[in-house]
Amino acid sequence: MQPVSILLKPFAKRFIGGETLEEALQTLHQLHHRGFLTTLDFLGESNQNRAEAEKAAEEYIANLKTLKKEGLDRNISIKLTQIGLEMDENFAKENFTKIAAAAKATNGFVRVDMEGSPYTEQTLKLTAEVHKNYPHVGVVLQSMLRRTPEDALCMLKEGIRVRLVKGAYKEPPSIAYPDKKETDRQYVMVMKRLLISGIYHAIATHDEKIIKEAIEFVKKEGIAKDSFEFQMLLGIRNKFAKKLLQEGYRLRIYVPYGKSWLPYMTRRLRERKENIWFVIKNIFRG
Ligand SMILES: Cc1cc2nc3c(=O)[nH]c(=O)nc-3n(C[C@H](O)[C@H](O)[C@H](O)COP(=O)(O)OP(=O)(O)OC[C@H]3O[C@@H](n4cnc5c(N)ncnc54)[C@H](O)[C@@H]3O)c2cc1C
Repeated sequence: MQPVSILLKPFAKRFIGGETLEEALQTLHQLHHRGFLTTLDFLGESNQNRAEAEKAAEEYIANLKTLKKEGLDRNISIKLTQIGLEMDENFAKENFTKIAAAAKATNGFVRVDMEGSPYTEQTLKLTAEVHKNYPHVGVVLQSMLRRTPEDALCMLKEGIRVRLVKGAYKEPPSIAYPDKKETDRQYVMVMKRLLISGIYHAIATHDEKIIKEAIEFVKKEGIAKDSFEFQMLLGIRNKFAKKLLQEGYRLRIYVPYGKSWLPYMTRRLRERKENIWFVIKNIFRG
């Protein structure tokens, strides 16, 4: 294990469901018991080896069967660079299609996470192509990107379910809002478009102000509580998530697992300076 991974491991425990599937299944069962919906992510990205990419796709297919057997949500989140997008688009599409077919066979759902902007176009294109034969696949849009309102319209036209997030990758100002307020403003604008579309979408944020605005909007528009869902990441705003659940909203928790947690954890650290302090305090505590 690299020194940086050793330092981050105590911090990672809060945010990942475990390093093995067995550990993640325990986390999923606990969440289900408390009334949450879940989506399972097998950690990994930027695969440069075809055999490894195929192995990742096989792990997802096996996971769908295990989730069914365990009576858990057959809902998974995948990354296209994990299954070969950086190497060969057709190869990634083949792997993606196999996963989508397995999800169909288990009556499940595949969400394609959105990665950095070099992959936005290909991710939307491949999702739309696979969606034509497998309607139970959806995508993620990032409100920090200037292009997102147009992408949302395209996805709505295709009837594709969207998870709306702010965006976790560092992007240049030419294509993304450098100002967080603009990202939030665009989030609310796109969120309202999604909520009134009649398609089941996911509002994925821990931002209390935005969630309150979503709730006011759905009440005003008479949108049913079961016609959309909120989503949060494991280990973030737990009490608030519980409160939403008690108010009768659907809440899905994103549960990542696996040994390749460093890039995921680095994004969680960057999002919030208190997390960096937590790591530093642990280092000095020894
Ligand atoms: C279910 C789900 C799936 C996601 N999938 C993707 C994806 O596919 N692609 C992508 O680019 N991004 C994804 N993200 C991450 C997203 O883009 C944001 O980076 C992340 O959600 C933080 O933004 P926020 O909306 O919570 O708002 P923020 O304004 O950043 O945060 C609002 C509040 O949430 C809490 N919070 C936020 N982040 C943290 C943290 N790391 N640690 C502790 N508290 C925190 C704090 O209380 C903060 O004040 C996903 C997020 C969720 C919830």
